[in-house]
Amino acid sequence: MKKNQYAVIGLGRFGSSLSKELIKLGYEVLGIDKDEEAVDEMSSELTHTVVADSTDEEVLKSLGVRNFDCAVVAIGDDIQASILTAIVLKDLGVKMVVAKALSELHGKVLNKIGVDRVIYPERDMGIRVAHQLVSPNLLDYIELSKDYTIVELSVPKRLCGLSIKELDPRAKYGCSVVAINKKNGVIIAPMATDVVNEKDVMVIIGTNDQIEEFEHEVI
Ligand code: ADP
Repeated sequence: MKKNQYAVIGLGRFGSSLSKELIKLGYEVLGIDKDEEAVDEMSSELTHTVVADSTDEEVLKSLGVRNFDCAVVAIGDDIQASILTAIVLKDLGVKMVVAKALSELHGKVLNKIGVDRVIYPERDMGIRVAHQLVSPNLLDYIELSKDYTIVELSVPKRLCGLSIKELDPRAKYGCSVVAINKKNGVIIAPMATDVVNEKDVMVIIGTNDQIEEFEHEVI
């Protein structure tokens, strides 16, 4: 199967980190930046790199950006350049355009232009770090809806050796352990007799209130 090809426009901190990770995952990445130094720094890491102004439609056309499966506008500070680039990409008919927004207003404009996915890295990372600060055992979480969340919690020492039945989050708090991630593999839908150990990670699903109660009482 042909692997997706990505164009990343703007090789600042976000764009360079994103494109390096895509390469690590085995995808081809074309990196574009108007700044020669930024391009030089990434030229050995990415599949192709080009010094170009992405607000120039002819330039993006000649680079064949329309044939890429996804283009990411990773320009933040220069809002005008970010918006103009997004318009050009949509006009060229790129299948999937993702753009980073620095503010709600910037995001609103990108949405109006028809950007397929607007991301707010700074805002979202701030929220994520706040959650991790208030729950030190929280490794990661996904908000399924306004009320429901899946969390990854590290198992503290004092819970080691307890079985799911002994922890019994479902009966006590209403949330469920859907998986235990152990060093030697993941147990999906663990049974009542499965035991948690230090360094294991519990994956728990429930309402925000149920999970919060479980965390405070048990973890
Ligand atoms: P970060 O916060 O991720 O570092 P920045 O907004 O500081 O993001 O950097 C974005 C990058 O986008 C910079 O390297 C800048 O040179 C590049 N850039 C800005 N405008 C254009 C443009 N019109 N064409 C191509 N690259 C651009």
